[in-house]
Amino acid sequence: MMTLNTAIEKLNTLEETQRAYGHAMGVLNLDGATAAPKRSIVGRSKTMGVLSGITYQLMVNDETAEVLATILENAAEADPKVVRRAELLKESLDDMTRIPMEEFVEYQTLISQADAVWHEAKEKSDYAMFAPYLEKIIHFNRRFAGYKNADKPAYDVLLDDYEKGASMASLDPFFALLREKLTPVILEVAKRPAPDASFLRQSFPIHQQRVFSDRVMAMMGMDRERCAIGETEHPFTDGFNKWDVRITTHYHENDLASSLYSVIHEGGHALYEMGGADELQFTCLAGGATMGLHESQSRFYENLIGRSLPFCKALLPVAREIFPAQLEGVTPEMLYAAVNASKPSLIRTESDELTYAHHIMIRYEMEKLMMAGDVKVDELPALWNKMYKDYLGVDVPDDRRGILQDTHWSGGMIGYFPSYALGSAYGVQMLSAMEKDIDVWAAAEKGDLTPITAWLGEKIHRHGSFLKPNVLLEQAMGQPFDPNYYVDYLVKKFSKLYNL
Ligand SMILES: [Zn+2]
Repeated sequence: MMTLNTAIEKLNTLEETQRAYGHAMGVLNLDGATAAPKRSIVGRSKTMGVLSGITYQLMVNDETAEVLATILENAAEADPKVVRRAELLKESLDDMTRIPMEEFVEYQTLISQADAVWHEAKEKSDYAMFAPYLEKIIHFNRRFAGYKNADKPAYDVLLDDYEKGASMASLDPFFALLREKLTPVILEVAKRPAPDASFLRQSFPIHQQRVFSDRVMAMMGMDRERCAIGETEHPFTDGFNKWDVRITTHYHENDLASSLYSVIHEGGHALYEMGGADELQFTCLAGGATMGLHESQSRFYENLIGRSLPFCKALLPVAREIFPAQLEGVTPEMLYAAVNASKPSLIRTESDELTYAHHIMIRYEMEKLMMAGDVKVDELPALWNKMYKDYLGVDVPDDRRGILQDTHWSGGMIGYFPSYALGSAYGVQMLSAMEKDIDVWAAAEKGDLTPITAWLGEKIHRHGSFLKPNVLLEQAMGQPFDPNYYVDYLVKKFSKLYNL
């Protein structure tokens, strides 16, 4: 029989070891995405295989099971943070052991093949090539969901995996509200003349854009001794611990806004990672609580602050110092209109703040049908195209710019998309609570976001995953989640911008 103290010591060692492997694998991944030559994948995937095998064994063994059981049985006497760590680890242990080993291995092989096939299918715009893989991925996900909870619809199990508490019962009314209130605005805006954004599409030399990124990160109050920026095809953030966070961006010489808003978005993720309490570091409580909460932070900085008129007023003089010729005669109002240009489009990742959630809604509706088995895999492209026409009024010319555009399904991530839309909505409600406590817009106009980060830090960042996501959310929003805040904000902002 293990004592509580022994169990806690062993938990500490286990988590430090896990974090060390996670750190090493994270650096390898980052290296793979940045400096490593193309064929380094041969050795890296071998190394990753070995390391992930070790991390699996660290978790799945009798001793770990006993450690977690001892702490959970003696929860009343243990520190609540230790108990929460044991709870979260128990959840992931259960997830790891529920699926029979040979099915898990089969699925991993399928996913790595599917990813390669998807890349080629997308390039050739050949959905038929990818369809058999998608069919198997759906099948596996349905089965895995059944192992976890056979009483719930499979899609609900997956939704809850990515965003604790999310279900079709909560998301149906959310998306119905967006459809009802935003669709008319989106279609009306599409008829209005587009604002002039041509000044953002001149030549902006990349070495100068790098300087601009540094200035923007300074405006956000990011500690550069703890956060570095790199360059990758697709921007991302990786936080190893609060003292070592990496963000990446992608520079396009003829598009100033693209990297600018990537840096602000990833900067929001990074501030969340850097804001965790010291005592949570090197445990599973460090970092963000859910995907939706992480997106709520990145989108908060990117859209609510970064695309506001007050912040444009602060941003323009900084941009003009670096790009005086390109930005001559541009006013903050012109910049504000240009960075908020809205037009229904084909590609989710390039879409604007107003239309973004509609892209997510289409994926949500499709995933619901896929997981319920209500649609055949070869019927999906036609369904996709019909929804883009109905909800966004756009014609999808080919599957490359249609159903094949996202990497999520090929990676087995079904049920992930809704967290993006939820995150956007959470952020707006947090803003409304924040406005009662601090002068958000004075800070934005001054170009010093530290008071905003301090508020988010207190309400969200410092807690990591210690608090349950719903508790954390209500604490930040001051009340239960209400998507009307999000819808009202978008209708008001875009009605004004487009004189509706
Ligand atoms: Zn993000």
